[in-house]
Amino acid sequence: KQISTDMETLTKEIGRFAENKKLEIETLKIRENYRKEFIGNVSHELKTPLFTVQGYILTLLDGAMKDKKVRKKYLKRAEKGVERLIYIVKDLDMITKLEVGGLSLNKTDFDIVKLIKNVFDLLEMKASKKHIVLTFDKEYASQVLVYGDEERLQQVLTNLIVNAIKYGKKDGTIEVSVEHLIKNKVIVRVTDNGEGIEKEHIPRLFERFYRVDKSGSRKEGGSGLGLAIVKHIVEAHNEKIYVESQFGIGSEFSFTLEKAK
Ligand code: ADP
Repeated sequence: KQISTDMETLTKEIGRFAENKKLEIETLKIRENYRKEFIGNVSHELKTPLFTVQGYILTLLDGAMKDKKVRKKYLKRAEKGVERLIYIVKDLDMITKLEVGGLSLNKTDFDIVKLIKNVFDLLEMKASKKHIVLTFDKEYASQVLVYGDEERLQQVLTNLIVNAIKYGKKDGTIEVSVEHLIKNKVIVRVTDNGEGIEKEHIPRLFERFYRVDKSGSRKEGGSGLGLAIVKHIVEAHNEKIYVESQFGIGSEFSFTLEKAK
């Protein structure tokens, strides 16, 4: 009897051991696939600008170098390609840090209205190329002190406003507003009257490398990481990010922040 009980325990233990190993292998497989997919996406993102830069250099070497005007034009375009590569690499660096949780927040009290206006100053040129006007909701124009990592939140605002410009229509308007919510929160909204997003894409929008219109978005530049970075930073603050959009009418991205005490 003793022997059969021992055998039963042993069998159960072997079963448990095998089950655990199976789970471990599954986890490793998922991680391996994730890694492969990430590398695949990265090479894909880098390929286009790399080929573009190579194209201009080859044309220059092929004889375009001789003409001073053409030389300058092609060198400028190659430089633009390199600039794009730098943006992509910076975004990749940021998303990697955020995903492994290695980015610590440096929280202070600061004026979110002033930050919005700084970001406007930096993006005014980009917007004016599409005749887009950047406006700030006047009702809340005085200072609003919040508590968070100013540098990271500048990145959040920049990414959202850059998207609003990229996917906004010519002669459009982008409005940013800050509203007081109940308790100790404010909500920052970035609203555009651009192309909008179809419902089916909304749930996947914040995934890294996810794009609605693959060719169109790539033409606009960017790494496909902008919104993934935004989500990570907002959630690292224990805050929420929302999106509402109507196809053909426009989109509104908003996020909450904690007021300074
Ligand atoms: P990308 O570098 O492609 O802009 P993002 O992560 O910033 O990457 O955005 C992901 C996708 O979400 C974009 O490719 C675009 O299709 C869509 N998108 C983001 N912001 C907007 C917006 N304001 N209006 C319409 N579509 C948007």
